[in-house]
Amino acid sequence: MNNDLSIRNMVKRFGDFTAVDDVTFDVPEGSFFSILGPSGCGKTTLLRMIAGFEEPTSGDIEIRGQNMLGVPPNLRPVNLVFQHLALFPMMNVAENIGFGLKRRGMGNKEIRSRTEAILERVDLPDFGEKQINQLSGGQKQRVAIARCLVLEPSVLLLDEPLGALDLKLREQMKVELKKLQTTVGTTFVYITHDQSEALVMSDQVAVMNHGRFEQLGTPQELYGQPETPFVAQFVGDNNIWHGTVSQSLEGLVLITTDEGYSFQTKTNAPLKDGVKADLFLRPEAMIIEPKNTVGLNIFSVIVKSILFDGANSRLLTTTKEDHELIVTLPQNRKFDYIEPGNEISVGWHPESGICFASED
Ligand code: ATP
Repeated sequence: MNNDLSIRNMVKRFGDFTAVDDVTFDVPEGSFFSILGPSGCGKTTLLRMIAGFEEPTSGDIEIRGQNMLGVPPNLRPVNLVFQHLALFPMMNVAENIGFGLKRRGMGNKEIRSRTEAILERVDLPDFGEKQINQLSGGQKQRVAIARCLVLEPSVLLLDEPLGALDLKLREQMKVELKKLQTTVGTTFVYITHDQSEALVMSDQVAVMNHGRFEQLGTPQELYGQPETPFVAQFVGDNNIWHGTVSQSLEGLVLITTDEGYSFQTKTNAPLKDGVKADLFLRPEAMIIEPKNTVGLNIFSVIVKSILFDGANSRLLTTTKEDHELIVTLPQNRKFDYIEPGNEISVGWHPESGICFASED
């Protein structure tokens, strides 16, 4: 498969500060690629360099095999959708969408037919005559995307486009955006600090921290096999234990937690005896065991509350040392004895542990 975008060893310095630090990646044609990271990690700077608003300190950018260094933004085959959509309030929907085509000197008839076609694509047929202030938040979003897509960019860049929407609409738009990207087949490069947006929509996600990519992979890989503590913590929910390796076995280690629990877990990299380690357990990796069970990685906790959220329920529990743990309740199973205040046994399989040497 060809790559629509190739970035090689991209660096951006502002004075002494390195905002983007040697980033290399490829985005295959027609894919949805997200850059996920906390505020200030360099996402926007990276996107601005792809769009041409910022020149890299060093490194290369190719779009569909063409070197983009020194090419001004208006001559790059990319378009950028901003969080604050920047629609023109004095123009109607069709005029907003046709604006870029008009600037390119296209005739009115052609503009009209392209505008109608793209409005169909984003599921807003017959919206051309509407004023921008007559649209809902989600509809404005789609108009902003249509206005870019009508220019047929090789790559559409999206800078936190759902950030200004309320939670419910954001949930809905995640699904719609993914559907839209699949239908139009345009390559999307999407930046966000919201892990659930990145996981739901993307074919591939790069997790960025302090200007660097910590890991690049499919959502499943990032969630199931995080390669660094930062990725383990940033992607998905976790129960975290701190401890010391007391024995290393083949691909497994015994950890004694700071509270004195002894656990066996798999590790990504070999860990030596005596090393400080962090252990991450996903809430759904926790298994509810029959009461008073004794065995590997099994211990008791007190149920504090049951968090019901429709599809899945979760238990908020604590150990007797006040270590909080969240446990996902299996669907369609009823546990009569699970009530706030009751003691229950929980456990987890060594294969589901995610363990790294502590970073300090
Ligand atoms: P956010 O999600 O908050 O927008 P971000 O990941 O997009 O964050 P950037 O906007 O790329 O982060 O900024 C990365 C770092 O570079 C920040 O520390 C920022 O202060 C710094 N930075 C960005 N632009 C400039 C500039 N023109 N001059 C100096 N420093 C800058």
